Amino acid sequence: MLPQIDLHSHSTVSDGTLPPSGLVEHAAARGVRMLALTDHDDMGGLEEAAASASALGMQFINGVEISVSWNKRTIHVLGLKVSVSHAPLIAGLAEIRAGRHVRAQGMAAGLERIGIAGSLDGAYRHAKRGIISRSHFARFLVEAGHAKDFPSVFKKFLVKGKPGYFEHRWASLEDALGWIIGSGGVPVLAHPGRYDLGRTNMLTLLHEFRELGGRGMEVVTGSHTPEMVPHFARLAHQFELLSSCGSDYHGPGQSYLDMGRLPELPQGCVPVWHDWPEAGAIN
Ligand code: AMP
Ligand code: MN
Ligand code: MN
Ligand code: MN
Repeated sequence: MLPQIDLHSHSTVSDGTLPPSGLVEHAAARGVRMLALTDHDDMGGLEEAAASASALGMQFINGVEISVSWNKRTIHVLGLKVSVSHAPLIAGLAEIRAGRHVRAQGMAAGLERIGIAGSLDGAYRHAKRGIISRSHFARFLVEAGHAKDFPSVFKKFLVKGKPGYFEHRWASLEDALGWIIGSGGVPVLAHPGRYDLGRTNMLTLLHEFRELGGRGMEVVTGSHTPEMVPHFARLAHQFELLSSCGSDYHGPGQSYLDMGRLPELPQGCVPVWHDWPEAGAIN
C-alpha cells in the first residue's frame, strides 16, 4: 500500500469535530503520512496541528479552504503550503470571518420567521474556536429535533431557497488566489464535482482559475463519485492543472469519508506534491 496522502481536512477551528491535535492523531492512526489541515477561512489550527504532526513523525502541510463567490455561486479554493504570516491573506480571511457573523444573524432571522428560536446561540455553542458556519446551525437544528441528520437538515433548512439560507457574498476568485499566491501557497480548486455548474460554466471556471494563477484541482476527494474521478482527471490534464487528493474529513461520523481510505490518483495525473520535499520524505 502506498503512503496515504490527505490534503483536505477540518478541525474544530472550522466545522470539524476534532481539535487540530486530535485530527492529526486520528490521521496518523489511519495511516496518513502527509496531511494538510484546511479549515474554512481560518488558519488558527495550523500551529497546533503542525506540532502534533511533528511529534508523530508525520509530514504536515499548512492549508486553508477559502470561500469564494463566483458567478453567483459559492466555490471553495484550497490554499496549500500557505504562509501564516502573509498580511493580505490574514486580513482577507479575517474579513470573510467577519462576514460569517453577519450571515449567521441573517440565517437565525430566517429560522426565527418559521418559528425556530434560539438558533444563533445554539449554533455558536457548537463553534467554539473559530468560524461560524452552516454546519454549526445544522448541529443545533438536529440536536433540537428539527431534523434527523445532517443531509436532511441541510435539505430542509440550509440550502438555497430554504428558511435558514442567507445569500452571502464571499471573497472574489481573484482576491482569494492573490492572497494564496502572495503567501507562497498553491491554489487548488476544491471538489469541482460538487458545484453542479454544467459543462460550459465548468470550463469557464477552470479557464479563469488558470488565468488567475490557479495551479491544481482535487481529482480524488470524499465528495467525488467514482465516475467523477476520471472525468476531472481529464479536465486537469486539459487545463494543465496538478491533481490533488483529500478526504474533506470533518470528524467521526460526520457523513464524509474517513481518513486513510482515498483511492490513488488515476494514471497520468501529475500530483500537486510532485516536487514537494515533504512528499520525498515519506517515500
Ligand atoms: P458554510 O461554509 O457555512 O456555507 O458551510 C458549508 C459546510 O457545510 C461545508 O463545508 C460542509 O461541511 C457542510 N455542508 C454543506 N452542505 C452539506 C450537506 N448537504 N450535507 C452535509 N454537510 C453539508
Ligand atoms: Mn465544512
Ligand atoms: Mn468545501
Ligand atoms: Mn472542506
